Amino acid sequence: MVSGDRWMGENGCVTQVTIIGGGPGGYEAALVAARLGAAVTVIERDGVGGSTVLTDCVPSKTLIATSDLMTEVSRAAELGVQVPDSVRPDLAAVNRRVLDLAQAQSNDIAERLTASNVSIISGTARLASASTVEVTTAEGRSTITSDAVLIATGAHPRVSDDALPDGERILTWEQIYTLDDVPEHMIVVGSGVTGAEFASAYNGLGAKVTLVSSRDRVLPGEDSDAAEVIENVFTRRGMNVLGNSRMQSVRREGESVIVTLTDGRTVEGSHCLLALGSIPNTHDLGLEDVGVTLNDAGFIEVDRVSRTSVSGIYAAGDCTGVLMLASVAAHQGRIAMAHLLGDEVSPLNLGTVSSNVFTSPEIATVGISQKDVDEASQPVDVAMLPLAANARAKMQGVHDGFVKLFSRHGVGTVIGGVVVGPRASELIHVVSVAVACRINVDQIANAFTVYPSMSGSVAEAARRLHPH
Ligand SMILES: Cc1cc2nc3c(=O)[nH]c(=O)nc-3n(C[C@H](O)[C@H](O)[C@H](O)COP(=O)(O)OP(=O)(O)OC[C@H]3O[C@@H](n4cnc5c(N)ncnc54)[C@H](O)[C@@H]3O)c2cc1C
Repeated sequence: MVSGDRWMGENGCVTQVTIIGGGPGGYEAALVAARLGAAVTVIERDGVGGSTVLTDCVPSKTLIATSDLMTEVSRAAELGVQVPDSVRPDLAAVNRRVLDLAQAQSNDIAERLTASNVSIISGTARLASASTVEVTTAEGRSTITSDAVLIATGAHPRVSDDALPDGERILTWEQIYTLDDVPEHMIVVGSGVTGAEFASAYNGLGAKVTLVSSRDRVLPGEDSDAAEVIENVFTRRGMNVLGNSRMQSVRREGESVIVTLTDGRTVEGSHCLLALGSIPNTHDLGLEDVGVTLNDAGFIEVDRVSRTSVSGIYAAGDCTGVLMLASVAAHQGRIAMAHLLGDEVSPLNLGTVSSNVFTSPEIATVGISQKDVDEASQPVDVAMLPLAANARAKMQGVHDGFVKLFSRHGVGTVIGGVVVGPRASELIHVVSVAVACRINVDQIANAFTVYPSMSGSVAEAARRLHPH
């Protein structure tokens, strides 16, 4: 544990904090700072909740909820229920729900901030000095002086000059919620987490999907056993997965889009979704002028308590590129304010972060990865159980997925895990608690699980890792 010095304002009592960006990095920090007694102002350009709530995480997971329902319906016959072939989503209604839900979530967060006495300014901010923020609003320009500034400006989708979105058929993930009909043939370029999630979602919604992957397999950053399951499921459900295929350009031709690959092949579809990664929103913020260090990719360099190279300026979330997750952004923001305001703070520990890929089935991971295990100098015990052997999975017609646990050889401390299956994002929590609290496999094995339940497989994997 480390503890930051209490940062006193010029008047000697209330610390003034200005936060640029109202996503989870910004709004979670604002709530903590207000609770610790600071006077907090959040400046947000596009809407409280940030990209997380308005364009990225919340909308995509809402769309995926509908897609998951469609996938369930498509399996109904196996469970003895005949459904007509004509079950189709009304995409206009789905997208209306997506956008309404996102806006409602944004409003809820704004209300919570206001109730916590956080001032919200709708405008664009930049640093004029280490302690002065210049704000441009519809009414004009003003400046705010504060004791500390938190930069939480997020990131935006990467596009290329050879694949420029037109907002109609060539789309970034921010633009897809305007579609009224399920695309006839969606080409998803990029097979990282975002690309795989949308490919899975549109496949579930009934679109023909081609996934263009520059690597030899989908989800190159994930557990290879998990990625193999997902690729097999994708292919079985009729998705065209093009491995080792690098996109060179995307162009519109009337009602079609043509994706040209670097080896000269072309793929024609009705729509193309670009999932090429993100660029940090660190341009035009005055960061370099005040001495904040950025790395070569433009991300703000921070330490484990979110301090930048300039005293009194903190940064959190996607603009730091530490780990581009809403949960990590929120945590970095909370840590920053706890450190600033002298509360007890544990530095960010990426080894305990749990994350999820919302494909169908989902992939959830926490702690050490299989790659770490393969390269580790110390022996690690691994137990992997297919879900297909689990009684509950059989009853529910679940055939794909597994539970994998990693424990320290000889002592049995749980150091990581992977769950692939429906609602893996929920099942991973017990492994997450085990990793964070350094729990032993025997402690997991000896805790009762409900019979029948998927969590029984987590307990069984732990049992198999009992240290001899
Ligand atoms: C499609 C997609 C799905 C995702 N799904 C998940 C998921 O399921 N789970 C998960 O944990 N993560 C998910 N993520 C990642 C997650 O969305 C990001 O990690 C998260 O948005 C980062 O939060 P943030 O606060 O750093 O930035 P943001 O949420 O991007 O918020 C930053 C805000 O700052 C504002 N801003 C920028 N510059 C200025 C300025 N100069 N003045 C004023 N305001 C400014 C922006 O308008 C924006 O509203 C997903 C990402 C994508 C792209």
